Amino acid sequence: MNLQSLGAAGTVTGSCHFLTLGNQQLLIDCGLFQGDDALEARNREAFPFAPSEVSAVLLTHAHLDHVGRLPLLVRRGYRGAIYCTPPTLNLAETVLLDSARLQVESYRQEVYKARRMNREGEVSQPLYDEDDVHRTVALMRPVLAFGQTLTLGNVKVRAERAGHILGSAYLILDSPDGRLICSGDLGNRESGLQQDFTLPPEADAVLIETTYANRTHRPLAQTLDEFRDVLNESVRLGGKILIPSFAIERAQAILYYLKTLMDAGEVPRVPIFLDSPMAARATHEYFEFGDELITPVRESLRSGEDPFRPSTLHVVTSSSESQRINRYDGAAIIIAGNGMLSGGRIQHHLKHQLWKPSTSLVIVSYQSPSSLGGRIVEGAPQVQVLGEEVAVRAHVHTIGGFSAHADQDDLLSWLDCTGPAHVWLVHGEPDVMNAFLPVLEARGRVADRVPQRGEVSLTQTHFPGGKPPGEVDESRRLVVQAE
Ligand SMILES: [Zn+2]
Repeated sequence: MNLQSLGAAGTVTGSCHFLTLGNQQLLIDCGLFQGDDALEARNREAFPFAPSEVSAVLLTHAHLDHVGRLPLLVRRGYRGAIYCTPPTLNLAETVLLDSARLQVESYRQEVYKARRMNREGEVSQPLYDEDDVHRTVALMRPVLAFGQTLTLGNVKVRAERAGHILGSAYLILDSPDGRLICSGDLGNRESGLQQDFTLPPEADAVLIETTYANRTHRPLAQTLDEFRDVLNESVRLGGKILIPSFAIERAQAILYYLKTLMDAGEVPRVPIFLDSPMAARATHEYFEFGDELITPVRESLRSGEDPFRPSTLHVVTSSSESQRINRYDGAAIIIAGNGMLSGGRIQHHLKHQLWKPSTSLVIVSYQSPSSLGGRIVEGAPQVQVLGEEVAVRAHVHTIGGFSAHADQDDLLSWLDCTGPAHVWLVHGEPDVMNAFLPVLEARGRVADRVPQRGEVSLTQTHFPGGKPPGEVDESRRLVVQAE
């Protein structure tokens, strides 16, 4: 049972785990690195295996940092099946097409600029285009259903509910080498639209995400009170209320909460612009797979209501319409991607609004330390947006409780069920993982951080203190959102 992590080892993006298990060579997720240039450069690295020799790819969920390198894998020769749950297939297609379009668009812009200096040859090609995405989607098999078993050679795979986003699963892999559980991203049991994750069985080894392994989320009721107060305060300022949001799950949850708060009369019915075509498309899947969602949402859908449509909602489609929002006078809520402010339509809203004291920036998502969002949350007085210096005069609010990720209590309650399994930490910043190791040790668990390079035997290797040698980079601090 050997593992080589090609991402999400000591960072929270680029999830991609290459497993040698039984008679199979499996890839769990194949996500994109997102963040600063150094991280994004890692997307171009060669895979340390021949893509054509991988037996199968298994997906935990459709977030870009878990699926975003799949078209690259296919471009480099992978022709096997990509197994996932039905919602993951639909959402992944949306996510990957968007990613391909953004890359091609930004390539064209870069070439246009470089041409003036006769340097167009230096611009990096897009990682992939829409054709690669179509070839990838053709390989996807939405046959993973919660609780059912898929047989791949002498490996049996079972998907279970992870409660993170629509269709998200954790995977139980049984082989002659033992049982391995891969958590994917686990959900926050107190928040969001998803039903809680189910509890896993005992295993020999566990790969667990650690995004928020060093903190406890505040209760959802408190978070909603805080959200309501921030919205009311922001409406009084009379400016734009920017809510950067990931297109999947967070956008739908925010729409659902806005509708609930406005219907209850707790927030004034100001216009809401959903300025994210991808979020609008993803919302259709929440209708399609509505039976997966928490009871009140499910019931609302069954009664023919639209729980994701506050009465003042405008769904913005074209980019010219998106630009016109800036000319709209008065308070209005703008929900736009992407969640970490590192691209997408939120950027032009930031350029036009961030310098105004009447603007409110309401952060409802995780911000990686190196992202634009991370720098704003840390209090940068001015930032670069779309090539221009913009002063940060807006009121910046961070609301941490909406996380779609498990907190420490959630992770421990899930991990406690896995018995004596050797615990391998992935998908977390190094200092978060280092804080989590002694917590696990105190519970009698054997735990290690997955090394960023090289192969480890999941049932045997143990690094002293749980940390692979020479990989701790204390300069990369986690941005802890305000409670
Ligand atoms: Zn995720």
